[in-house]
Amino acid sequence: MAKIKSWLAGRKKEGNFRQLTPICRTESGFINLKYHNHATPLLDFSSNDYLGLSTHPDVIAESRRYLEKYGAGAGAARLMSGDLFIFHELENKIAQLKGKEAALLFGSGFLANSGIIPALVGRHDVIFSDRLNHASIYDGCRLSGASLQRFRHNDLNHLEELLKKKRGKKNALIVVESLYSMDGDFCPLAEVAFLKEKYDCLLMVDEAHATGLFGSNGGGLIQEKKIINQVDIAMGTFGKALGSYGAYVAASRQMVDYLINRARSFIYSTALPPAIIGASLAAVAIIQKQPTLRRELWNKVQIFKKELNNGGLKNPGLSQIIPLPVGSSSKTVRLAEILRHQGIFATAVRPPTVPAGTARLRFSVTCRLSEADLIKSGKIISHYFTA
Ligand SMILES: *Cc1c(COP(=O)(O)O)cnc(C)c1O
Repeated sequence: MAKIKSWLAGRKKEGNFRQLTPICRTESGFINLKYHNHATPLLDFSSNDYLGLSTHPDVIAESRRYLEKYGAGAGAARLMSGDLFIFHELENKIAQLKGKEAALLFGSGFLANSGIIPALVGRHDVIFSDRLNHASIYDGCRLSGASLQRFRHNDLNHLEELLKKKRGKKNALIVVESLYSMDGDFCPLAEVAFLKEKYDCLLMVDEAHATGLFGSNGGGLIQEKKIINQVDIAMGTFGKALGSYGAYVAASRQMVDYLINRARSFIYSTALPPAIIGASLAAVAIIQKQPTLRRELWNKVQIFKKELNNGGLKNPGLSQIIPLPVGSSSKTVRLAEILRHQGIFATAVRPPTVPAGTARLRFSVTCRLSEADLIKSGKIISHYFTA
């Protein structure tokens, strides 16, 4: 296979060859690179487990209880014989959390996005999608066969220009993320909701990185921005701030009934394992009851940013996701390596995850990092970035 060999060589030459890095996470949330002969555990700035719920005692206990009571697997897809009542229990909780009539679980966020979009629009329709939307959204768009209009990231003028030119009489879908995963910035949701109404489109919002962190009870940014009623498809995942796995969509009863019948990644895939449902139920209960966890996170984010700012890195991001731009892929990888030797683990995000020439180190702040560690690493990071 000469083609594979040369493709791999090309990737290596660009600094974009990606490799798996086996790690262990210690109980206190450090990353242990014992397979790499790294003696000391590293501070973890790479995980999306923002509230540390993956190891929360209640989450583990409930997950274990569900495992022991309902078994290791669901046995089948929901529409076959896998429709355990516990899925409905979690769906009711999610509908309530998101302020929608109903909800539907998917195996993962990737399955949700790649299944929902082709169910909503088809060959004669049109999709307006932010350029920086996640790969799973992009794949859903391509699978649908609809005409794909990508607007410049968060650029409302460009979105409206495309709506004017391309909306036509077809069915139309606008799809955005509420908090962008690799840039850590927010979608102007109220304005997008306004355009959705003006041009009579469906609106889908992916809240993968916002669920559990925003809104008075953790319901996400559509709750905080009060646009729940304008969002037709409120999608989110359990694998990030909720610390478990899987995904959901919250919508009208009618929309959920439609997706049960149309979304192929729901219909033709085995239902989630019971232990995951137990974990997600416990995590949802925690985010609803304990706003203190969110406050702790935002406090830590402020501390870290202040330190970066003091070290000469101005305006380091808006959320818990802090991308520090580098540009070239190989330089980004070198910086990541240097930081590892300083006890800091952050991921080098490179094309094709982000556009060419915009490689960056992505830092995510989590509740597991202590204030002292955040201050110490803020100093080290700004030193290497301004050097
Ligand atoms: C992580 C992510 C997904 C995919 O979710 P998984 O459950 O990991 O498959 C989808 N959309 C966005 C914006 C994400 O960040």
